[in-house]
Amino acid sequence: MAAQIIDGKAVAEALRRDVATGVASLVAKGLTPGLAVVLVGTDPASEVYVRNKARQTVACGMRSFETKLDARISEADLLALIARLNADPAVHGILVQLPLPPHIRSAAVIEAIDPAKDVDGFHPVNAGRLATGGAALVPCTPLGCIKLARTVHASLKGLEAVVVGRSNIVGKPVALLLLAEDATVTIAHSRTRDLASVVRRADLVVAAVGRPEMVRGDWIKPGATVIDVGINRIDAGGGKTRLVGDVAYDEARRVAGAITPVPGGVGPMTIACLLSNTLEAARRTLAA
Ligand code: NDP
Repeated sequence: MAAQIIDGKAVAEALRRDVATGVASLVAKGLTPGLAVVLVGTDPASEVYVRNKARQTVACGMRSFETKLDARISEADLLALIARLNADPAVHGILVQLPLPPHIRSAAVIEAIDPAKDVDGFHPVNAGRLATGGAALVPCTPLGCIKLARTVHASLKGLEAVVVGRSNIVGKPVALLLLAEDATVTIAHSRTRDLASVVRRADLVVAAVGRPEMVRGDWIKPGATVIDVGINRIDAGGGKTRLVGDVAYDEARRVAGAITPVPGGVGPMTIACLLSNTLEAARRTLAA
């Protein structure tokens, strides 16, 4: 039987509606959440991404503060800007679009952001809180993965989950979130032996590898849920390109119980979760 296709666009839209409702109730209390996005340089993909973030931020009723900086800005000047945003009471979330130019240390920039405004969830304080069960701001793409899995499974408790990929921005936080949901979690990576048989154990597979269609259909346990984080642009012939995930979608959807498409799966969730984190960061200032 063909898999249920998990509609990330629809789930993201519902989340954005919930965020807008939450924002409206904060505005009624005199607090308008604000998100500051900082872009260094003119990478076209990053520019599109930043524009989408700003548009969706405003559509949810929040304030959007965009800063575009020349690629030659010094690290010290960027850190000074972050210090100003940290101190600005109208800004509840700060996001610095990655990657940064090579002369700027990403870790120094991430660590300069106030953890209470770190809506990307990359600051070591938030990573530590996630690992130790504290009130973290959680990275957006991993949070989106969990929300999508929860549209299929009311509870993830006891599920055998395999995360392929162990990056700090996707694989590790997804694994920690799954653990917090009481799944039994395996993290696989490039040194994992017999990856296919590890993946075959999973009731829930999260693929975050960055290799087009690496996870094959015959690696998937029949009925399993597949969350494909990968975004890979491949040659489609005739001078055209197309996006594919890290999972061989046409094969996997014949075996899986549910699967996210690429595009239209995890991708749309990332910005929606960013907005949700910004709302949460603003709410916490009231509670503080
Ligand atoms: P990284 O390159 O940082 O990490 C990739 C991980 O995959 C590493 O842990 C690596 O293992 C593992 N890996 C690589 N090759 C293999 C292999 N042959 N077998 C098993 N494991 C392997 O990537 P990211 O985590 O940043 O991103 C992963 C994917 O998700 C990319 O396609 C990216 O574009 C996409 N992405 C999508 C987002 C969205 O909004 N939808 C947001 C962020 C990322 P090792 O550690 O051993 O090297």
